[in-house]
Amino acid sequence: MEKKEEKQCSGCKVKKSIDQFRNENRNCNSCIARWVRYKQNHPERVQRYYEENKERFLEEKKEYRKMYNRREEMCEVCNYTIKTCRRAHHRKTQIHLANLEKIEAKNN
Ligand SMILES: [Zn+2]
Ligand SMILES: [Zn+2]
Repeated sequence: MEKKEEKQCSGCKVKKSIDQFRNENRNCNSCIARWVRYKQNHPERVQRYYEENKERFLEEKKEYRKMYNRREEMCEVCNYTIKTCRRAHHRKTQIHLANLEKIEAKNN
């Protein structure tokens, strides 16, 4: 059975399965939807909040980037460790595709 990857939402602080997050978002889809609604209703408040916390946001973003770039995971097809941020790239490589073919050939 495939183990679902989990991630803690930085909005509601709840651990959710990775498919509750779009791409590498730190907030789950429902938090983002709520935030989008809030932004529509209070654009001036949101603007001020951003201005006041700009430095901190930039810093956090940089930290998160660094962390994300270091994260690694196992490619189950190739059976070796790849960088998570390179996953999409890796899945298009010749090596990965060749391994995938091998597995499919075995299964048929
Ligand atoms: Zn959330
Ligand atoms: Zn692979």
